[in-house]
Amino acid sequence: MNRMQKRVLLLGSTGSIGESTLRVAENLGEAVRIVALAAHSRWERLLEQIDAFSPEAVALTDSDAAAELERALAHRKGPIPRLYVGSDGLVSLVRETTGDIVVAAISGAAGLPATIAAVETGKDLALANKESLVMSGAILTRLAEEHGKRILPVDSEHSAIFQCMQAGRPEEIRAIVLTASGGPFRSTPLAELESVTPAQALAHPTWNMGAKITIDSATLMNKSLEVIEAFWLFDIEPRSIEVVVHPQSIVHSMVEYRDGSTIAHLGPPDMRVPIQYALTYPRREALDVPRLRWSDVARLTFEAPDLDRFPSLRMAYEVLEAGGTSAAVFNGANEVAVAAFLAEELPFLGIFEVIERTLERHSSIAQPSLADIFQADAWAREEAQRQAGALASRRG
Ligand code: NAD
Ligand code: MG
Repeated sequence: MNRMQKRVLLLGSTGSIGESTLRVAENLGEAVRIVALAAHSRWERLLEQIDAFSPEAVALTDSDAAAELERALAHRKGPIPRLYVGSDGLVSLVRETTGDIVVAAISGAAGLPATIAAVETGKDLALANKESLVMSGAILTRLAEEHGKRILPVDSEHSAIFQCMQAGRPEEIRAIVLTASGGPFRSTPLAELESVTPAQALAHPTWNMGAKITIDSATLMNKSLEVIEAFWLFDIEPRSIEVVVHPQSIVHSMVEYRDGSTIAHLGPPDMRVPIQYALTYPRREALDVPRLRWSDVARLTFEAPDLDRFPSLRMAYEVLEAGGTSAAVFNGANEVAVAAFLAEELPFLGIFEVIERTLERHSSIAQPSLADIFQADAWAREEAQRQAGALASRRG
């Protein structure tokens, strides 16, 4: 075994971040080895990835898909990876595979148990699955500290802030400024937001991502989750976390220091950049992203977010203020509302209503255990489903 080679477990390998991570692995060549791959149900794509990367272990959380994969693997030449099945199997894969770093790129709360297992088994975490940090930030950051492991941000804004923070010391920071593209409805009037369709919401102007996060970008829920993510990653007062809309997605975020200097991170909107940085930190390796041509960039604009049209962002600060299990409920209700919107069972603005009503009915538990968090998530899903149903029948 090459001692300089980083052993990488990739969870969510068939998704947008997962595929980009595999492009980065190809770019890094011998410096990394993909030792495990995990996905939900797309077994044929996973089989192609097994052929290309020869992992030691793989997991599929969908048992029918796992059975298909097992059959296909039996008919194939070459080494067969250990196959783990189901949500428990996913956690076992993380626990039983030795590795240096886990790329957590599963979408939503489903990623939380595996994210926890990664840190508990002493692996660094390259975190794309922001939902897991939003739900259990106190626990995850404490576990990482106890094990002396890093949580390296993959989210482009947080990677940017992490990089800008290398220009000063934590106590010298006055504020961090998260940039938001504003999504496809940045300038859509409130009256028209009522009738926007999933297809319109899925057409993101600057980033190409999975469906859930694309809807989150349209509601600014993505930025709301990112405010909470930044709170946990960088240990910064909520009032010092600012959000500014920057439609060109060239400035990925900024850090303002107490001497009046603001350090920004700029680059083309390509997730391979933050993924590779998380894998090679503190080094930077070459990557074939298109260079920014400053004479073509022409204009970088910034504007305040509109909290009347996008109340999610206001709710994020309330949730941070409330603490405890509120953030898990905020996230769980959103996941249900997004699914209902994608199924055309809930209008776009109904997403905010469902989240707000669910939060209103929740009594937050302070200093929650992991069990409390899973319970709050389950409660939020049930309550949000009920709220979505009630909204739909009222509109009838
Ligand atoms: P995606 O929908 O494209 O992919 C999700 C992956 O997770 C797939 O491999 C899928 O098989 C797997 N998955 C889904 N449900 C699962 C379950 N229940 N159990 C196990 N695996 C499951 O999503 P994405 O856009 O790649 O986003 C992944 C994560 O990264 C999200 O948390 C998102 O917020 C975050 N993120 C994404 C981007 C981006 O550019 N796509 C940017 C920043 C952060
Ligand atoms: Mg982001």
